[in-house]
Amino acid sequence: MSTTVTSTQSEIRPSAAYKLRATAKWVEKPFWKRNPFEHLAAIDLASKKCYEVQPKNPNAPPAHNVWWERLWLSLAIPPPLIFHALWYYFVPETNYYHTWHPGAAYAFYAISFLIYTIVMVKHIHYYMDYYGTFDEDKRPRDYVPDMLVTRLVLSVVVYMLARTGGGLLLGGYNRNESPSLGHTISWFVLIKIAGWLIALDFFFYCYHRACHMVPFLWKVHSLHHCTKHPTPIQSILAGDIQEVIEVFLVPLAASLVVPLTTHEFWIAQCILIYIEATGHSGIRAYWPHCILNEVLQPFGMELCIEDHDLHHRLGKSGMNYGKQTRIFDRIFGTISERVECVQK
Ligand SMILES: [Zn+2]
Ligand SMILES: [Zn+2]
Repeated sequence: MSTTVTSTQSEIRPSAAYKLRATAKWVEKPFWKRNPFEHLAAIDLASKKCYEVQPKNPNAPPAHNVWWERLWLSLAIPPPLIFHALWYYFVPETNYYHTWHPGAAYAFYAISFLIYTIVMVKHIHYYMDYYGTFDEDKRPRDYVPDMLVTRLVLSVVVYMLARTGGGLLLGGYNRNESPSLGHTISWFVLIKIAGWLIALDFFFYCYHRACHMVPFLWKVHSLHHCTKHPTPIQSILAGDIQEVIEVFLVPLAASLVVPLTTHEFWIAQCILIYIEATGHSGIRAYWPHCILNEVLQPFGMELCIEDHDLHHRLGKSGMNYGKQTRIFDRIFGTISERVECVQK
């Protein structure tokens, strides 16, 4: 399947409408003068080049090999499941610590999720530097503004804790059940997760489109749109109500359609945050969805990084509401055509 891309950057919309940036003086502070929130927000800082306007790149965005990403994900996601399974295998059943209390499992998976996320963000930063970012000749990536540093860090904490707890609760965590690696790391589970992601995208599409059309909901959602050129962790930046809907209700609704076990949830949520983070990275490459690409591409419904990057540039006027696919954007006519990545 061809992933050749051509650049039509000359057709880009006028960018004069970009608002002035909010101040981000915290990034200029020496390391030792930053407060704890600023240290945590600094995890999302890509290389300096990503925050400076670059010369216009005459070449079309290259097609990134999705199999490299699949390999990276298949190395980064399973270790906690393998550790959990090995623990149940090697610690004798007669030992008090053989099974994991829900509190212990929660702590283990929350910490694992945090470590996975940090490693993943650094992986994405590498490619932001390597390929450059979309629209970089007009405007580079946005720093998190001073006034939103604390909000971002708290959003990340709520996201990590809620998504981990949600996975254990919705998956029906049973301390007497060891993760079955043969089942959990299999094609069948990937198909289930693909279904879960599509169900999730349907509910997200409905909610997200409403946010752009209903004035009250736009007030809720507009904080997420304070950046037109986001970075990976800014995908989590949201107001209180939006957080409740996105972090709790949308995955809950998807889980009612495609129920997942606790351990399947671990894989699904790692993939979900990876797609959300890459979607907010602006990496200047044709970088398709790691699970759904081949299935959706024949129908023009596949998602790549540029799609949500354009959503941020368009602001309230919206388009490209899906964050996992373009199925519902295609069906309901809300696709914004790509500017730099145009598939032949
Ligand atoms: Zn939006
Ligand atoms: Zn976004």
